[in-house]
Amino acid sequence: MKSHAQIAVIGAGPAGLAAATKASSQGADVILFDEQPAPGGQIYRAVESATAAQKKVLGTSYARGEGLVRALRESSVDYRPASTIWQLTAEREIGVSRDGAAGIVTADRVIVAGGAIERPFPIPGWTLPGVATAGAAQILLKSSGLVSEGAIFAGSGPLLYLVVSQYLRAGLRPAALIDTTPRSNRWPALKKFAAALKRWDLLVEGAGWMREIRQASIRVERAASDLAIEGSDHAEAIVFHDGHGKPQRITGDRIFLHQGVVPNVNLTMSAGCRHHWNDRQLCWVPDVDRWYGSSLPGISIIGDGAGIAGAVAAEAAGRIAAIGVLQELGYSDAPTADKQSEPHRRKLAQENAIRPFLDLWFRPNDAHRIPDRPETIVCRCEEVTAGDLRQGIALGAPGPNQLKAFCRAGMGPCQGRMCGLTVTELLAAETGKDPEAVGYYRLRPPVKPLTLGELAALPISKE
Ligand SMILES: Cc1cc2nc3c(=O)[nH]c(=O)nc-3n(C[C@H](O)[C@H](O)[C@H](O)COP(=O)(O)OP(=O)(O)OC[C@H]3O[C@@H](n4cnc5c(N)ncnc54)[C@H](O)[C@@H]3O)c2cc1C
Repeated sequence: MKSHAQIAVIGAGPAGLAAATKASSQGADVILFDEQPAPGGQIYRAVESATAAQKKVLGTSYARGEGLVRALRESSVDYRPASTIWQLTAEREIGVSRDGAAGIVTADRVIVAGGAIERPFPIPGWTLPGVATAGAAQILLKSSGLVSEGAIFAGSGPLLYLVVSQYLRAGLRPAALIDTTPRSNRWPALKKFAAALKRWDLLVEGAGWMREIRQASIRVERAASDLAIEGSDHAEAIVFHDGHGKPQRITGDRIFLHQGVVPNVNLTMSAGCRHHWNDRQLCWVPDVDRWYGSSLPGISIIGDGAGIAGAVAAEAAGRIAAIGVLQELGYSDAPTADKQSEPHRRKLAQENAIRPFLDLWFRPNDAHRIPDRPETIVCRCEEVTAGDLRQGIALGAPGPNQLKAFCRAGMGPCQGRMCGLTVTELLAAETGKDPEAVGYYRLRPPVKPLTLGELAALPISKE
């Protein structure tokens, strides 16, 4: 199998699909890697194999993925599914693991389209069996039609409402929807509402999900706070304070949590691309230029991995990045690239107009991001609690890397994906510094687990 390409794209969601097919349409030699068995990314997961009934459940925006995936199948892109990328270097060496074998692929240009992950939700009991994320509930629904009867959904954000409405369309009644969006978010968000009207269709779609939920007459709690999950060896109930501050308890052994999505930055951070703290989205985002070029030459970052903006924006960014890379490789000149990218930039501006409103409206509750109870687990892999972290800070650990050495937070197989943001924010809160000044874990490959056998079988460099 070929081990060099002109352009390597990592991630076959809307951003990566658009970038790869656009680049190959002009004759470039493109490899597209994705760890999933089929193209589509998060939003269009398994779209090729979905039945008409599943498409009805998943809604109109899901079907949009069919065109993107068809374009891939009709293109000359060398698509490599089930390929996990565990390394990306500044020299554009890509460590790939597929079918139990590891290899290195190099490329003249790399476009990273790794998408988003769900924001951690560190509350007491979030690691108990029976507790998962709303995204995981949706993955089960999309990939295998699996659903949980009588589930409790809790948290904030459009995806939470979308998944509950998809559950209802699948004929299931969740036991409750506990919305943790703080009421204090409304005023700052409403100041951005006029701009959001540019995507009035999305607002109407969201209102439709809320209407479906209202009509189903399931229990909905608003402005809930102080969430915790009770149970000894599995989830038994969720407790919280309702919008009037009254303690509440709902029994249930399947609880799905969600409080928004954040860019999946482990690969781009480990490659050495520069990132900064985005205070509105409360997460790390890579520095990119107008063609999505990162701080490292030849590496571009697109889609939700470059800042949360949604699937349509991800697709537009993919096309802009491909046009930019094609120009760098000599397939077109600057004026042509500018002209070709214009419609996609207009689309992007329209998509981005709704973001400030959504980001401010669904800004997650501080207490659900920065746990105050000492027993709350923050690093799930190494079972490090908020109390352990505070102790490390009190002993003088000034940043995430020293905390990692003090108490192993971030050293497990997920390489900080599940705890990194919490550690940054907790350190910032304890030391009075900005998250930007606190920083993030210094990440090293492999960013995804790799067996010793795969590593040992890698060809040894002659140098
Ligand atoms: C769990 C979840 C569910 C979501 N569901 C919806 C939804 O239903 N509707 C909606 O509007 N938005 C949804 N979103 C938001 C949505 O992901 C984005 O708006 C949109 O899909 C972003 O497109 P993208 O191409 O940037 O990333 P994605 O669609 O996330 O695609 C990224 C791809 O990169 C691959 N990848 C990542 N890292 C690696 C690696 N190291 N090696 C190999 N492959 C890798 C992933 O497998 C994935 O296929 C969801 C987000 C999450 C986290």
